[in-house]
Amino acid sequence: MSEFLLKPRICFGQDALAILNDLPASHVLLVTDQAMVKFGLTECVTQVLHQRGITFQIWDDVKADPDIATLVRGMKLMDANYPDVVIALGGGSVIDAAKAVIFALAQTRVDTTRQRPCFVAIPTTSGTGSEVTAFSVVKAHTEKLVLVDPSLLPDIAILAPSLVASVPPTITADTGMDVLCHALEAYVSRHASDFSDALAEKVVQQVFLHLPLCWRNGDNLQAREKMHNASCMAGMAFTNASLGITHSLAHALGGVFHVPHGRANALLMADVVAWNADYQGQCDTEAARKYARLAHLLELPADSTRQGVASLLVAIQALKDEMVMPAGIRDTGVDSAEFEQRLPEMVAQALRDSCTPTNPRVPDANALTELYRRAWAGNPEQGY
Ligand SMILES: [Zn+2]
Repeated sequence: MSEFLLKPRICFGQDALAILNDLPASHVLLVTDQAMVKFGLTECVTQVLHQRGITFQIWDDVKADPDIATLVRGMKLMDANYPDVVIALGGGSVIDAAKAVIFALAQTRVDTTRQRPCFVAIPTTSGTGSEVTAFSVVKAHTEKLVLVDPSLLPDIAILAPSLVASVPPTITADTGMDVLCHALEAYVSRHASDFSDALAEKVVQQVFLHLPLCWRNGDNLQAREKMHNASCMAGMAFTNASLGITHSLAHALGGVFHVPHGRANALLMADVVAWNADYQGQCDTEAARKYARLAHLLELPADSTRQGVASLLVAIQALKDEMVMPAGIRDTGVDSAEFEQRLPEMVAQALRDSCTPTNPRVPDANALTELYRRAWAGNPEQGY
């Protein structure tokens, strides 16, 4: 049996935050980070709560890649405050932390009379799609662990483009490439379906059209809205279809060398597409045909499967170049000798990553090592 899970309720558009005026709540826990408080972005929530006379507490010490100690602090705070609504306002790390804390409390709570709080996710980057996914990425030592459970899904997602207008170009590029990677990997996943394909195709079209506009002019709210919606649709696609080895390799690279998640995907994506398509060989895999279909939808040359795959590879490279992204891992400040030394550890992590089993082509350690080495060099001379 196949299934496609649709949750949460999604509020989108320029006035999406208006839903907060109608939200039934008596005590709210606002999960966020210190930058959100410092730059006043939390006020879009706290002002409404003040006006409505709703008491609230702010948990603002969530940092990038939340670790176990952070989650334990969040569990203690949430358990002591007993909120009926949890609002997570921030990037993927903030939403993932709130998910993990709500989930862990539900699993460990002795007092079973307490209800799970209503969970509202308000993303402030267009990237992870965490507001609509049943995944939470947490860090244990140097390894990123992916929790997967339908109960991690928020109840309401609010997509307010005004909240992403101030995202700087570098982060716009990184997170936007993450959106593209989610769509590409869901599209060729072993668990892809008509439903996830429809979403992924729309996402790929919107990213190529609107991401450069967002990068050039962050205040372009029409383009920001398109990318914010694309990020959410990509999340809906991959929470159902799962992902592939670009993410497996990026999780390990990010865990060991702290390369931001979206940038890590951007560095690895083209080489994985070429490998999945068997571009150096027959270029006649099911994944290759689907990549060529995307090239056709993007109105790129795609008379044959090989030409379509080549067009998509060129388009990915051009998108990276347009946003002045690093070509290879070596351009991100990672030390060459340390990269080689830690390669086997990263390959082992990537092999056991939860995204690996749904990749269309089954990798072994040699294949993943080769992909890391290609991504290290950036291979602009490869000439797709
Ligand atoms: Zn991602």
